[in-house]
Amino acid sequence: MKILIVGAGLSGAVMARQLAQAGHHITVLESRSHIAGNCHTERCPDTGVLVHVYGPHIFHTGDAGVWDYVTKFARFVPYRHQVRATAQGQVYTLPINLHTINQFFGKTFDPAQARAFIEDTQARREITDPQSFEEQALRMVGPALYEAFLAGYTEKQWGCSPADLPAAILKRLPMRFDYNDNYFAHPFQGMPEQGYTPMVAAILDHPGIDVHLNTPYTAQAAAKADHLIWTGPLDGYFDAKLGRLGYRTLDFDRFTVQGDYQGCAVMNYPDRDLPYTRITEHKHFAPWETHEASVLYRETPRACGVEDTPYYPIRLLNDKALLSEYEALAAAETGVTFLGRLGTYRYLDMDVTIREALDAAAGFTPA
Ligand SMILES: Cc1cc2nc3c(=O)[nH]c(=O)nc-3n(C[C@H](O)[C@H](O)[C@H](O)COP(=O)(O)OP(=O)(O)OC[C@H]3O[C@@H](n4cnc5c(N)ncnc54)[C@H](O)[C@@H]3O)c2cc1C
Repeated sequence: MKILIVGAGLSGAVMARQLAQAGHHITVLESRSHIAGNCHTERCPDTGVLVHVYGPHIFHTGDAGVWDYVTKFARFVPYRHQVRATAQGQVYTLPINLHTINQFFGKTFDPAQARAFIEDTQARREITDPQSFEEQALRMVGPALYEAFLAGYTEKQWGCSPADLPAAILKRLPMRFDYNDNYFAHPFQGMPEQGYTPMVAAILDHPGIDVHLNTPYTAQAAAKADHLIWTGPLDGYFDAKLGRLGYRTLDFDRFTVQGDYQGCAVMNYPDRDLPYTRITEHKHFAPWETHEASVLYRETPRACGVEDTPYYPIRLLNDKALLSEYEALAAAETGVTFLGRLGTYRYLDMDVTIREALDAAAGFTPA
């Protein structure tokens, strides 16, 4: 069967590989000049640093099948992600842990003392059923830590008050009462030694797959195929006829310095008086490499316009209502599979993206 796949990100690439191995003929159309979607990495020609072009990507998963899959296509180097924050004139470790608490309050608490201190003197215990991000934060960490690390960052990230965001967002950011400052808890964590783009190239390297870069989707191309797999924006497939689904985009102010600029991969800036949320120093995502110079991104979120790269789906109430309408249209389409972070309008980590593509390929039954 002839299958047309729109998008050469992880979703499109994994789906292409699995369906090609099952004997189908695959054509992949990609509007950008490169494969790998938002995971794209490239070497900076001036410094040699491996740059995560659309923002830093750290691979972490609890799914042993996905880990087996990616390690077949790239050599992974162990990598533990750590994040620092410059807040109110001091540097702290994140996520909020025993070190952060002791440093912030000028204490030498052990785990039990810290837990009791937060619960008895900080947490707003009268909030019994937190509905918003703000309520959830005040219940968990109390007003002082909330103001220092979460309120300003969240406002900048989402462009709205944390009081208007669902509590579920914060449930993903645990507070720790030990000195563990590993950002992720998954058992499998690492970075592809040469970056994500060679890994995706290896996934797409199959005689049954043709990839066309700089080639946006057209209805004519679809007419030649027996089935279409769409990993572009869900609303884009329908020419946004019901309105546009809301996204946040990121402005990356890229700069280069000699030496080591900040001594870590990610420094968050939660203070409200700075417009950016974080600075990422890309050579620290490949600590096994040595480079004299350094490439950095200063990251500022804002509302996503028509011409911007959509990064984070907003998924507030009005977006969810619109999403339901598009989902109904999508369900009524025959011969089309919608897949991936844009095709389903969800934030998906890479491992989940790969798992969903593997499962979709395994259950593929053309209409
Ligand atoms: C800032 C940021 C940081 C992230 N960090 C992490 C991280 O640390 N760890 C992690 O696991 N995940 C991370 N992610 C998530 C990760 O980026 C996604 O899991 C992954 O990109 C999803 O792949 P995808 O193929 O579904 O989508 P995409 O990568 O967006 O690929 C879709 C592709 O479709 C193409 N396309 C769209 N429309 C058309 C069209 N009409 N015609 C032709 N081509 C089209 C696009 O150009 C794009 O290349 C991060 C995401 C963001 C936004």
